[in-house]
Amino acid sequence: MRRKSILIFIVMCCLFMFSVSASADIFTEGDSSLDLHCACEINDETIFDRLSNGERVDLEQWAGIIPEQPTVYLTFDDGPSPWTEKILDLLQQEEILATFFVLGQQAEKYPETMKRIHEEGHQIGNHTYDHQYEALYSNFTLYYDQIKQTESVILSLTGESTTLVRSPGGTHTNFDAFYFYFIQKAGYQLFDWNVDSGDSKRIGVPSSEIIANVKNSPLKHEMNVLFHDSGGHEETVKALPDIIAYFRALGYDFQPLTPSVKPIQFSIGKQKWHRTMTKEQFATISEKIEQDRIKDKESTIDHSIEAVSRTMDTFQPIRLVSEERGGYVTWDASTGTATTYIDQAKIEWNIETKLVQIETEQGTLFREVMPDLTIENGRMKLPSQQIQLVWQQLKRI
Ligand SMILES: [Zn+2]
Repeated sequence: MRRKSILIFIVMCCLFMFSVSASADIFTEGDSSLDLHCACEINDETIFDRLSNGERVDLEQWAGIIPEQPTVYLTFDDGPSPWTEKILDLLQQEEILATFFVLGQQAEKYPETMKRIHEEGHQIGNHTYDHQYEALYSNFTLYYDQIKQTESVILSLTGESTTLVRSPGGTHTNFDAFYFYFIQKAGYQLFDWNVDSGDSKRIGVPSSEIIANVKNSPLKHEMNVLFHDSGGHEETVKALPDIIAYFRALGYDFQPLTPSVKPIQFSIGKQKWHRTMTKEQFATISEKIEQDRIKDKESTIDHSIEAVSRTMDTFQPIRLVSEERGGYVTWDASTGTATTYIDQAKIEWNIETKLVQIETEQGTLFREVMPDLTIENGRMKLPSQQIQLVWQQLKRI
């Protein structure tokens, strides 16, 4: 009797530790990410009404990681340009990683700089293709087209796509509830900022003023600092060493943005733009976004076998780990299912239902909903502990 209760206690401890370690590794809450598909089918009417009333509807709740150390995220918008190279030199000297929100049309002009940003380990974010407010904010379709266009430019130049987005001019007064909803539905993380270096308030803002703007900003645990590395930003380059030294002296760490960093997003505010959205337009855009996500999954999952990304090291790509174990993987976009063929077994990983099941000749060996199953940059991933759990089942064959 006593032995039995000790055993139950040990099992409970293991279960508890597993759930704690699994939840620490995820950046989206399992339950809410499960609703992603259902939300559009069942509640479309309600969502449309809420968005029409200007209410934000979030598809997923942020559940990333707050860093222990106070952290600065240096971000550079509107590049690349020749000044980007100078900034990269400086960051290299200081051994700091930063984030570059590039314009598609600039990226095409400076492909070598794009490659350098990527190779040196910085994060690349999407800042639309041409930065023209009138087009970008006249309707979401035009905005979305520029995001997709820039995404493919980034992918073709660096071999990796990005889900980080910063909106030209920031979201305040530019974004409405529909824009916030659609961009999230399309799988992007949107970052505004909480420190404006003021380097593009007018042409040629002197470095002393840029430094003062940053130093006068209230200190926060996480500081997302806006700079620009487009043409004519020599003064930004000049200001950087002092700004870096300032934060260093205060004990700040420097990190690039990642999807697990809590995004700063401005309030919606009074709209600068006069947009309308009918139920039909809403349905058309929703449908287009869903189709694109299926297409993206299909094209990238089939072709990319890459190591676990630097920023997501606790998640492992299903394809990579399957192949390492001598299996192979196929992808069926119509059902959202990746299938691993390994050791006389077939493991199906369904991104829509999050169901993972192992089939053998004897029948179903394992069948479990794994809410953390996710697609990141076109790679289906699961926290390593959960992958281990699946592999362990194979030993029973
Ligand atoms: Zn910009």
